[in-house]
Amino acid sequence: LTWGQCGLLTPVLNVIEKLGYQKPSPIQSQAIPAIMSGRDVIGVAKTGSGKTIAFLLPMFRHIKDQPPLGKQDGPIAIILAPTRELANQIHAECRPFVKALGLKSAVCFGQQSLKENIDTIKNGVEIIVATPGRLVDLATVNKGTLLSFRRVTYFVMDEADRLWDMGFEPQVIKLLNQVRPDKQTIMFSATMPKNMEALARKHLRKPLEITI
Ligand code: AMP
Repeated sequence: LTWGQCGLLTPVLNVIEKLGYQKPSPIQSQAIPAIMSGRDVIGVAKTGSGKTIAFLLPMFRHIKDQPPLGKQDGPIAIILAPTRELANQIHAECRPFVKALGLKSAVCFGQQSLKENIDTIKNGVEIIVATPGRLVDLATVNKGTLLSFRRVTYFVMDEADRLWDMGFEPQVIKLLNQVRPDKQTIMFSATMPKNMEALARKHLRKPLEITI
């Protein structure tokens, strides 16, 4: 598979070229076409496999296929990560694409000032990368009027096993239940324990499981 065969947007292809990524990694070769087709996907892959790019590139296409965002609309894509470090890393990987596409993104985690997060969200963002606790908190600001999930149609859980290990299960389930049921859901995890498989069966629709 080449990048040109992935159905990506031209500005996205240009950024990939600038970054020097010569061809899709094995997880990208399998996950990108599946996600682009609109399917829910469970990817069992470790850090270093290129899993971040695998869920980011189809996300940009998904967002660009939606009607443009009004300031009060709330995000189209949510990416959950277990730690501040991972959230920052994902957001940093997003940045060049977000810039090239004229989109807006936010990264939100517990150690930041809530006000800073609120101001960013008020300005309108298509993409929020967040730790689950902070996102649940933001969803309650002003009785829930700050952050609406009604337009969220692309939902990613990255390093899902670590989300669980860190005790974020209640927050993740709360968020999953607040987002519309016809969303596309992507779950990446280094391992797939029984309890997470049960969650996936409940919340994902006929997910395609890809193991690298
Ligand atoms: P990840 O597994 O998502 O943490 O990615 C590991 C590293 O691989 C990151 O630093 C990416 O910038 C890099 N990377 C992702 N996809 C590719 C690719 N197709 N070719 C070369 N490097 C890549």
